[in-house]
Amino acid sequence: MPGQNSFDAVFVGAGINSLVGAALLAQAGWGVSVLERADVPGGCIRTSSELTLPGFTHELMACWHPLFTGSAAYAELKGSLDARGVEYLNTDLPTAMLSSDGNSAFLWTDLDAQVAELERYARGDGDAWRAMFDAVMANAPLAFGLLGTELWSSAGARLALGAQRRLGRRGVLEFAGGTLASARDFLTATFASEQARGLLAPWVLHTGLGPDQAVSGFMAQVIACALQLGGMPVPRGGGVRLVDALAGIVLDAGGEIRTGAEVERIEVAAGRARGVRLAGGERVRAARAVIASVTPGALYGRLLDPGRVPEAVAAAARRFRHGRGEMQIHLALGEPPRWRGERAAELARTPIVHVTPGLDGVSRAVNEAERGLLPAEATIVAGQPCALDPDRAPQGSSILWLQLQELPAGRVRGDAAGEIDTAAGVWTDELREAYADRICARLGESIENLGTATLARVVLSPADLERLNVNLVGGDIYGGSCALDQNLLWRPFPQAPGHRTAIDGLWHIGASTHPGPGLGAGSGYLVAKALTAPRPMARVLRRLGRS
Ligand SMILES: Cc1cc2nc3c(=O)[nH]c(=O)nc-3n(C[C@H](O)[C@H](O)[C@H](O)COP(=O)(O)OP(=O)(O)OC[C@H]3O[C@@H](n4cnc5c(N)ncnc54)[C@H](O)[C@@H]3O)c2cc1C
Repeated sequence: MPGQNSFDAVFVGAGINSLVGAALLAQAGWGVSVLERADVPGGCIRTSSELTLPGFTHELMACWHPLFTGSAAYAELKGSLDARGVEYLNTDLPTAMLSSDGNSAFLWTDLDAQVAELERYARGDGDAWRAMFDAVMANAPLAFGLLGTELWSSAGARLALGAQRRLGRRGVLEFAGGTLASARDFLTATFASEQARGLLAPWVLHTGLGPDQAVSGFMAQVIACALQLGGMPVPRGGGVRLVDALAGIVLDAGGEIRTGAEVERIEVAAGRARGVRLAGGERVRAARAVIASVTPGALYGRLLDPGRVPEAVAAAARRFRHGRGEMQIHLALGEPPRWRGERAAELARTPIVHVTPGLDGVSRAVNEAERGLLPAEATIVAGQPCALDPDRAPQGSSILWLQLQELPAGRVRGDAAGEIDTAAGVWTDELREAYADRICARLGESIENLGTATLARVVLSPADLERLNVNLVGGDIYGGSCALDQNLLWRPFPQAPGHRTAIDGLWHIGASTHPGPGLGAGSGYLVAKALTAPRPMARVLRRLGRS
């Protein structure tokens, strides 16, 4: 490895994409440095035993790992992660919806159980689910390939050609057209019952979309199948176990992970990224690549000298839109939640229950948030980590991880319910607690002991989330709006799509880049693979050697 302050690759930020990319490069023999401005690595994975009360372990931000366990990165690193003690806990009942009138519906990993579940609400809905599952699986290489391939590359071209060969021109058109549909159009055309629609509609929020947006129908189907196939895994002990294991792979190979190391400039000479300069002036050299897991605004507006950025790219970065804000509420409970209703026992063991009025309710709350309002009736993502990993709370007690994804991006202009004073327009402590009170009061209608069981509560507003991770601009947890013009082929924007940049040796990864947010580590994986791919001449020589 080169000298102490010189590495083959330097990563800016230590989120999941950087850690996976660094681990893969380290295993391939590269000297890597991962530089993180926060005082711990992990980015949105932040496990804390000090948030509420002793003995309670909370995930401050990301909690659920189906995208990671279903990823190419996990398939490749599993042996090394297993060896470092990463163990996933899973369930046959990943998610449910519950409406205020007590109606609930569940998603089972067993397909026949799922068909029976939905047949209870409307005849034919179970068969419709099976047909959806079969259709997605029949096109799985294309559907999942879109989300796991560097689209602007020869691999992307192969994906398109393969699809044309298999489906024909009309088939490709049909697939692409179907992909564009909104969740509302897909769900209302496919399922008759409000339960089936309400089971999937809130999942669209987890892709950074709303149910009336283009592509949200496709995302709903992909998620439905991914959950059915993969459940809702979490690492025993929390995401910190995965972070530590990935960091361990890097360190054992001689690389470094530095915290409290803020990169303030990417240094470029003769058109090539040469390294970075830290706050304080220290330089870290990169012989082969600088890989930045930051927002477009940070990359093109701050980290690069403006003279190095083509004006069209700088202008596109300024136009890049961040998405809705988000709030997390963490509760330490003295006893497990007691859900109301006929199916209380099943709700108690479901890791993610969406408390929602259904498709129209999600649509209304998203629309209110997009108009700058606190929604009157938000979708409550009620996460129960102890349903999978009981050791996250002392025996006989529990925790809740509550998420509110329908909040304004930027200024809060009002309250759709007309109850909360939003005159300040920003997330003050009073506004944060008032909104959390509304959510807890509503959840108390579904969990009968919520008030008496709550021992401690910590709320993170959109502004608090941005303070925890500078990439969460305005509390947008998905690294930028995932509307179609900023998604897939166009992420982060058409002037610099994919991960290569206009500057040689500088790569852009993270939630703001394809395949977008989540713990799938897709961008870190794709860039590590691009960097370690045999060069064309080496490929030819290897082929000749084989013949
Ligand atoms: C509250 C919340 C809940 C979520 N829940 C889930 C979930 O359950 N499951 C799921 O799959 N996804 C979830 N997500 C989304 C997912 O966690 C993120 O999309 C993903 O973790 C982003 O990873 P990343 O690699 O882009 O980097 P990030 O996790 O964003 O990390 C980037 C890191 O870079 C650092 N950094 C930025 N600029 C600099 C600089 N100049 N110098 C040094 N360091 C810098 C930051 O401090 C940060 O630590 C959630 C996100 C949030 C915020």
